[in-house]
Amino acid sequence: MADAGKRRVCYYYEPEIGNYYYGQGNAMKPHRVRMTHSLLEGYGLLHRMRVLRPIPASNRDLLRFHSDDYIAFLRSATPDRHLDADILRRFNMSDDCPVFYGLFDYCQSYAGASVCAARELNRGRADIAINWSGGLHHAKRSEASGFCYVNDIVLAILKLLEVHKIYGILFPPLNSLSFLFHSSFSVPLKLISERSIIPQLPTAMIGRDSLLLLARVLYVDIDIHHGDGVEEAFYLTDRVMTVSFHKFGDYFPGTGHIGDIGYGKGQHYAINVPLDEGIDDESYHYVFKPIMEKVMEAFRPDAVVLQCGADSLSGDRLGCFNLSIKGHSDCIRYMRSFNVPLLLLGGGGYTLRNVARCWCYETGVALGVELDDEMPDHEYIGYFGPEFTIHAVPSNMENKNSRRSLDATKVKLLETLSSLQHAPSVQFHEQPTSMDTDQAISSFNSSFLDIVIWKFTDVDPNKDDEVCKEWESLKNTTLTRSELKFLFSLPTVATFALTFSGLQI
Ligand SMILES: [Zn+2]
Repeated sequence: MADAGKRRVCYYYEPEIGNYYYGQGNAMKPHRVRMTHSLLEGYGLLHRMRVLRPIPASNRDLLRFHSDDYIAFLRSATPDRHLDADILRRFNMSDDCPVFYGLFDYCQSYAGASVCAARELNRGRADIAINWSGGLHHAKRSEASGFCYVNDIVLAILKLLEVHKIYGILFPPLNSLSFLFHSSFSVPLKLISERSIIPQLPTAMIGRDSLLLLARVLYVDIDIHHGDGVEEAFYLTDRVMTVSFHKFGDYFPGTGHIGDIGYGKGQHYAINVPLDEGIDDESYHYVFKPIMEKVMEAFRPDAVVLQCGADSLSGDRLGCFNLSIKGHSDCIRYMRSFNVPLLLLGGGGYTLRNVARCWCYETGVALGVELDDEMPDHEYIGYFGPEFTIHAVPSNMENKNSRRSLDATKVKLLETLSSLQHAPSVQFHEQPTSMDTDQAISSFNSSFLDIVIWKFTDVDPNKDDEVCKEWESLKNTTLTRSELKFLFSLPTVATFALTFSGLQI
């Protein structure tokens, strides 16, 4: 399973991030991201990847998921302005989610980093993209929750969903002579476009037999808390599968029951793995690996988003699991081994030194570099005494997860995933791999496009009209295969060539 092969990694870091302060007594400290960065520098890892400064998320980015009034509130709220109690209640601003100085800049910064990271994966410029300031999985459309204001994960997933592959017949624009020298137009069902954005599609260039494959995104959450905000956002769609491993039972946020599996089209596309306190590395991987192996086999995602909340580590100030840094990072190592574009995000984590240890070590895992246990000198070395090591020894707390309960959970979820594999869904058709594609075309004809349109609009209701119009025009304005055959027959090409060269002269 282990795969130490090289990956192109890009890492997003905003130098201001460590200066944001939730307030005295609040357990969430953005300073931990700066500590992680400093440790990465100490280990020399910054030279092994592209280090990028994020562009702050724009209003348009934020409104893809969040409501206007909520974003307007976050933009204008400051602690020294009187804030109406009803409004604070409405947006669930509380002790956990206070209004602090620079709040909106902070939201734009961590959300922008996740969106930029997703875009970098979409463009194929990186195999793994990292944003340790992101992963704020509890934020809802119009509500803050559990230290989270804006849900950068949902925004990043929406960005990853923009990716598509189009197989079809290339129909070059007639006002250019370049098509005469373009070999691809004579080959049916060729991969025309990959990893670009649908509204930018040059619709007139795609033949009617085109096959569109839209991306599926897998979300995996190893924070100790249930990834409720992300699950809720994609509960009704089968284009995003969410899998959350979390403490369940009398624990924040209270959701994540094993029986919550998604709804409608999204049924069986939400997976919840409830665990009890004290879980150690061995027990965790007893369920994590077989479940994730089955998920990858059944869902076959085009991109994976992994929320690496470090509050599932042993000794966390708010958590009650007993994972070592090695055990936690084995989740990253395992997901990386599938070699699918991977977005690594932060999340919870309230014992600062362990968060920095964990995310630094996991950056090493992403890069395929094993770090020395002995920590190099760096700005925050004082936090790591007396051991000054990257690893920390887990405690001897009781593991309340019996083998029997883990088996029951595992069996139930693997059964669900097996039924998914046999579900009659167009998503699981093989992609055509050769030019002998008549069969593929017949199963992926215009009705397929209709299904895909439905799926795409399902996750982005704001874009319904725009996208439907786009595809309607695509279907109405393109040519059939026989028309194309005629068009590209030698005499026709010669006629066009003569006509155009005449016009050009
Ligand atoms: Zn958490």
